[in-house]
Amino acid sequence: MATEKNISVGSQVWLEDNELAWIDGEALDINGQEVTARTSTGKVVTVKLSNVHPKDPDAQPGGVDDMTKLAYLHEPGVLYNLASRYELNDIYTYTGNILIAVNPFAKLPHLYDVHMMEQYRGATFGELSPHVFAIADTAYRAMINEGKSQSILVSGESGAGKTETTKLLMQYIAFMGGRAMTDGRTVEQQVLESNPLLEAFGNAKTVRNDNSSRFGKFVELQFDRSGRISGAAVRTYLLERSRVVQISDPERNYHCFYQLCASAEDAEKYKLGDPRSFHYLNQSNCYELNHTNSSREYAKTRRAMDIVGISLEEQEAIFRVVASILHLGNIEFAQGKEADSSVLKDEKSKFHLQTTSELLMCDKQSLFEALTTRIIVTRDENITKMLDPVASTTNRDTLAKTIYSRLFDWLVEKVNSSIGQDPDSRTLIGVLDIYGFESFKTNSFEQFCINLTNEKLQQHFNQHVFKMEQEEYTKEEINWSYIEFVDNQDVLDMIEKKPLGIIALLDEACMFPKATHETFAGKLFQTFKNHKRFIKPKLSRTDFTISHYAGEVTYQADLFLEKNKDYVVAEHQALLGSSKCPFVANLFPPSPEEPSKSSYKFSSIGTRFKQQLQALMETLNSTEPHYIRCVKPNPYNKPGLFENFNVLQQLRCGGVLEAVRISCAGYPTRRTFDEFIDRFGLLAPELHDGSYDEKAATEHILKKANLSNYQIGKTKVFLRAGQMAELDTKRAEM
Ligand code: ATP
Ligand code: MG
Repeated sequence: MATEKNISVGSQVWLEDNELAWIDGEALDINGQEVTARTSTGKVVTVKLSNVHPKDPDAQPGGVDDMTKLAYLHEPGVLYNLASRYELNDIYTYTGNILIAVNPFAKLPHLYDVHMMEQYRGATFGELSPHVFAIADTAYRAMINEGKSQSILVSGESGAGKTETTKLLMQYIAFMGGRAMTDGRTVEQQVLESNPLLEAFGNAKTVRNDNSSRFGKFVELQFDRSGRISGAAVRTYLLERSRVVQISDPERNYHCFYQLCASAEDAEKYKLGDPRSFHYLNQSNCYELNHTNSSREYAKTRRAMDIVGISLEEQEAIFRVVASILHLGNIEFAQGKEADSSVLKDEKSKFHLQTTSELLMCDKQSLFEALTTRIIVTRDENITKMLDPVASTTNRDTLAKTIYSRLFDWLVEKVNSSIGQDPDSRTLIGVLDIYGFESFKTNSFEQFCINLTNEKLQQHFNQHVFKMEQEEYTKEEINWSYIEFVDNQDVLDMIEKKPLGIIALLDEACMFPKATHETFAGKLFQTFKNHKRFIKPKLSRTDFTISHYAGEVTYQADLFLEKNKDYVVAEHQALLGSSKCPFVANLFPPSPEEPSKSSYKFSSIGTRFKQQLQALMETLNSTEPHYIRCVKPNPYNKPGLFENFNVLQQLRCGGVLEAVRISCAGYPTRRTFDEFIDRFGLLAPELHDGSYDEKAATEHILKKANLSNYQIGKTKVFLRAGQMAELDTKRAEM
């Protein structure tokens, strides 16, 4: 007896399993909604029919290079296919037009050499093995042939390989569209060298990845009429600032600090040396990275600066500022004579104050005052308030973060102005390397912003996958009815809408002096109490849970207000704006607005980020998108280890399973008539007389097998989910 899933006694099946996620086996008995089966490891188990899927009896041992070629498109099929390919070092697999890249955690140099690039140049998509170069080639050629801008969206969790993939894409595109010269340096060289430069200042070792990007990045490569790169622009998103002043073992601060400390002469010039002697570095015991030599990395960063077009004077100033941050972090405070006031703690602190002021070229006494006092502006007068040692220390850290983030923004702007934009360019290829969905034990404002990004990209992705499906149907001239997919517009509205979205409510709280994270959370509970995407956890008064497309995430509201406020303390602005070093002063240009009443000026990070995302989505919407989903096969960054549950979770978050689901809702199985007859010709031996053409033969087989609801296209037959299994069962019974 065959079930509705076309599983019969004796058939090969996939069974849900606690350890492996899915395990293969053979059905021994079927009893209503339960299946008893023997697993390939010899266990006899009984599981619910809903947790059993048919296994393709003809599955190739090495897997298929495109998931849509799987006879049965379902979760275990997708997973097993990836795993068996990974075992053979085939790290790339397509799902239609989406490329899935499983991080090999091992060098595969032959996979990316010039010879390989030459192979992929102009090769028909799908003819060669799946590859990141094939995606780049498709995008490049579509741009040339159709004159339409393209984008390549790379996503995945930390350590999955986004940045490496992005660099490979850019290498290939530079290979195809290189050779436009600007004063001796090629544009593509400048573009490629912007990577190590921004990595030195924006990447750090984390528990998940030794070279983790702590910012999001969208690189726009512009092309002239002949398809040569003629300009480029880099946009960055949300650099993690807190890392500058706070790290925990075994993570590190940004690479540039260690590079500078290891740079013999320059380190000496700036009174640096052992990174262990600096508070901003010695909060963690990790100073070295495996397989990297910091002084060599320093040389590389300097060379990248040369190529990008940063002058020697600017380079000197940049590293002087980097050094000043380390010295600043070593200034410590002790209780002063007056209550709630601070003095320098010791001689060492005096030395570091002196050095910081020298490096930043500002007055030592003014620096001290900017760190230990705050001016309160009232209607009648300005009152100078002393800060206690704790407040002074926080103030010091705020200054360090502000300087560093201004420096980072300067670098990005410099890269942009130096490479230059091509005003005549009409087409571009954008490459997006942005943080994937995050859900940790504690989630704060950063995760909230990151997950908002992913909600937006997911919506874009769903709409696109959906459109592609429909286009394929149209091309084959078959009927399609509207296929439903889970729309996440409701989550986006809940977060973004004015005046009652979460960001708007947060801004309101930030502007209201008496608001606290508790009143903010209270407002959320009240506003969204009946929202199906919002949950108030039972045990907390300030946590809130959002039901994201990729799962539920509980956020801690505690630091939301503080983290949403982007302001430069007026005293810091005044101090550094008047630095004798033009580079430093330039990092703090006078603000155009009237000085506000308070010495804090509020501008909302959340709102600005939302606007940045909006602009990004507009750019993406004007391009033809290509998707690469990077997958981290295990959390240990080890080669050859493929952990099923882990991978499934990522496929879910990356929308790969949703794409599969959308596809299953229509006609997931497509076979050319030829392929179909090869597999099922057996069901109609009478066809051997050769009087049918392929299309008619296909129809004949389907009719004879009593199938309905399938579609016959121009070159292919389209089957509903499960129909392939039905035909297989019939074939097995012959
Ligand atoms: P994050 O979000 O933390 O920035 P990421 O997704 O950008 O992470 P990468 O830095 O690109 O991750 O990759 C992490 C590490 O994985 C790399 O340093 C490299 O060792 C390895 N890796 C990634 N892709 C490849 C590849 N194609 N071949 C060999 N090794 C790779
Ligand atoms: Mg990265």
